[in-house]
Amino acid sequence: MISYKSTRGSKNFKNAAQAVIQGIAEDKGLYVPDSVPKLPFEIKDMVGKPYKEIAQAVIGSFFTDYSQEEIRACVDGAYDSKFEEKEIVPVKKGGDAYFLELYHGKTAAFKDMALSILPYLLTTAMKKEKEEKKICILTATSGDTGKAALEGFADVPGTEIVVFYPNKGVSQVQERQMVTQEGANTHVFAINGNFDDAQTGVKKIFNDNEFAAELAKRGLKLSSANSINIGRLVPQVAYYVYGYIKLVGDGVITVGDSINVTVPTGNFGNILAAYYAKQMGIPIAKLICASNENRVLTDFINTGVYDIRREFYLTNSPSMDILISSNLERLLYHLCGNDGDEVRKLMESLDSEKKYEVGEKIRSGMKDFVGGTANVEETNAAIGEMYEKNGYLMDTHTAVAYKVYADYRKNTGDKTPTLIASTASAYKFADSVAKSIGLGDEADGFAYIRALNEKTGVRIPAGLKGLETKEIRHKGVLDVPDMKKAVSECLK
Ligand SMILES: *Cc1c(COP(=O)(O)O)cnc(C)c1O
Repeated sequence: MISYKSTRGSKNFKNAAQAVIQGIAEDKGLYVPDSVPKLPFEIKDMVGKPYKEIAQAVIGSFFTDYSQEEIRACVDGAYDSKFEEKEIVPVKKGGDAYFLELYHGKTAAFKDMALSILPYLLTTAMKKEKEEKKICILTATSGDTGKAALEGFADVPGTEIVVFYPNKGVSQVQERQMVTQEGANTHVFAINGNFDDAQTGVKKIFNDNEFAAELAKRGLKLSSANSINIGRLVPQVAYYVYGYIKLVGDGVITVGDSINVTVPTGNFGNILAAYYAKQMGIPIAKLICASNENRVLTDFINTGVYDIRREFYLTNSPSMDILISSNLERLLYHLCGNDGDEVRKLMESLDSEKKYEVGEKIRSGMKDFVGGTANVEETNAAIGEMYEKNGYLMDTHTAVAYKVYADYRKNTGDKTPTLIASTASAYKFADSVAKSIGLGDEADGFAYIRALNEKTGVRIPAGLKGLETKEIRHKGVLDVPDMKKAVSECLK
C-alpha cells in the first residue's frame, strides 16, 4: 500500500484518491508517494503490448487504493479515439534521436496525456471517498495545461473548471483554443501578469482557509489540475516506461541497456515523471533538463543555487517561460531523504529571499541530471536543420530539447540512445516553425498553420481546425488581486 504525504512534512498521510481530490496539501506542500513502486512486470514480457496495458500497470502500482477495475476504466476512458494516433504515443526517429510523440491528443500538446485521465481518476476518487461537494478545478496555465484541462473537464458532472492564463503570454492559437471552449462548467480568464503571477495567485486561493470554508458552505471544494496534483504526474510515468519498451521492440536497444531522456522543462512535472520511471527500474542514465532563456533550472543543476532574482523572458516556447518550477520541490524532498522540514525551509527561503541553496546530499543526488539551455535563435535553427536534413518537424519546445541534447552529445561524446519528450504539435507554434523552415511572413497564426501545412503536408490536428471562426465565449481580463473574487462569482 503506497500512501501520499506532503513535501513539507505534515504527518497527515493520504491515500491516492484523497490526494487527487485535495490537489495540494494543507501545509502548502505537494503530495508525494512514500515510496516509488518497482516495475510491476518484466520488461521483456511487455514488448509489443499496447499503451493502455502498460499505462494501467504503471498507474495501478502507484495508486494502490484504486482497484484494478477502476484503473482500467480510467485508462480506457482516457486513451481512446480522442487520440489521433492509434498507438497513442508513437516513437519516431529524427536524426540521431528518438522522439516520444506525446501530443496526439485533443489539444495537440502533451498535457493531454495526463489531463485526459485526470477527470476519470478524480470522479472515481470522489465516489470512493464519498465526496459530495462539487469539485472546482482551479488552473494556472502557461498555455497548454489550460486547454487540456478544459477539454478534460468540460461538462464532467460534479465539477467546475476555472482557468487563468497570462494575457499576451500565450500564442494566438493557444489563446483561441481556450476562449472558444464549450461546456456549461468552464470558465476562462486572462490575467494581467505572467505565468508565475497566475500560478502564485492560484496557490494563494488554495491556501486561503477562510475562502475554503465559505465555499464549503456553498457545497464547493477546490482542487487542482496543475501538475502539483499527483493525479497528473503519475499517468506521465507510464509513457517513459512505454517509450523504453518501444525502443526494445524496435531493436534500438536490448532489455537492460541504458537510455538517456531529454525533456523540455517548465514546471518540472514531465522530467520528474521520467525520474520516477527510473526509480521504478527503467534503465535511464541521464535526465537531461532543457530550458529556454529562462534558465533558472540549468543554473540550479550546475550550481545548487535556485535564484529567481533575474529577468523573465517571453520566448517562442511559452510553456517553458517559468521561473518557479513547482515540481522541483518533489525531487528535493526525495533527494534529501524524504525530509519535509528541510524542504519547508528551502521553500520559505524561496518565498522570502527569492532564492535557496541546497546541501551536498541533494546535490550528489542530482548527479544524473544534466541542465542545458537553448535561446530562441538556436531553437529556430534546430527546427530548420532537422526539417531540412531529416524531414522531421519539431515544435519550438521539442526543438529546445533537441538542441540541448545535441550540445550534450557533442560536448560529452555520450552516444547513449536518447528519447526526447516531444511535447507539442508544430502547428501550435506555427509562426515560429514556419519561419524556421524558411517560409515568409503571414498575417496571423492561422495563416501560418495553412502555410506550414501546404509546405510540409504534415496533418493538422483536428482540434486546431476551424478555430479561427469558432465563437469566442470567454472574454474576462483580470488583475491578479481580483482572481479570488472572479472564482467566487463564476461558481455561483
Ligand atoms: C507544459 C509544457 C512543457 C513543460 O512541461 P513541465 O511538465 O511543466 O516541465 C513543455 N512543452 C510544452 C509544449 C508544454 O505544454
